[in-house]
Amino acid sequence: MRDFSGDHRWLSLNTATVRKQGDLLAIVDACARAKVRAISPWRDQVAAIGLARAVAAVKAAQLSLSGYCRGGMFPADPARLEETHDDNRRAVDEAAALGAPCLVLVVGGLPQFSRPGSAPSKDLAGARALVEDGIGRLLEHARAARMPLAIEPLHPMYAADRACVNTLAHALDLCDRLDPQTTGALGVAADVYHVWWDPDLMAQLARAGARRLLAYHVCDWLVPTRDLLTDRGMMGDGVIDLPRIRAAVEAAGFARFAEVEIFSDHWWSRPMDEVIATCIARHCTAV
Ligand code: ZN
Repeated sequence: MRDFSGDHRWLSLNTATVRKQGDLLAIVDACARAKVRAISPWRDQVAAIGLARAVAAVKAAQLSLSGYCRGGMFPADPARLEETHDDNRRAVDEAAALGAPCLVLVVGGLPQFSRPGSAPSKDLAGARALVEDGIGRLLEHARAARMPLAIEPLHPMYAADRACVNTLAHALDLCDRLDPQTTGALGVAADVYHVWWDPDLMAQLARAGARRLLAYHVCDWLVPTRDLLTDRGMMGDGVIDLPRIRAAVEAAGFARFAEVEIFSDHWWSRPMDEVIATCIARHCTAV
């Protein structure tokens, strides 16, 4: 297991962590000041400044990417599946332009939440089938663009509206069916917030191995959690045994960035430099 205590060379900042404090250009500047080597930007943040400017800023700051957030939201009305596919193809192309190592997929839940305007449905199994179809179809484009797709299983509290793939086992089953040769084109993003509770976590990380483990996201689980979406904790402030999980991730062969991804009303209310400094300090002591 890598020693993170002496520096933060393996820290990546998911830019949603400071999305309320500034635009992507401001975040890139702050990362340069703090000597953060990598980021994982969001599509809306890239769109807000324009893809060309985002590409130029990343290059000028000599930043690496640990991922690009995000594609997915596959379940939709039949009439809207083409639009959904086109949207995802654009996400792949943006990820490639930015030099991301993978496009993270938040796969979507029921159609009316995944793609608003779709007809209301309670067919979760049907949504899961649409997810598999959607990833399978996108995979062709992603292979051509040489952009690996990383399925991020989400905590089951998001099954209705954000992702109906809720465990690493489910995500890896999809990988095995859609990419049985383990070509590197399809894998998973393991986010501690979503998977820490899973009794099968360690076995599934070992099953994933380096070929499927494309991204590792860290934050912490607060007790109590006051909001389902915007109350993630800073590493070390909650109950997740982060070093134990990272040991398993690295034992499986993962040697990439530990990406800090915190959606938090508390941390969004603090100055950007303070948040990044805290992420760095906790990366060294708690991750
Ligand atoms: Zn994540």
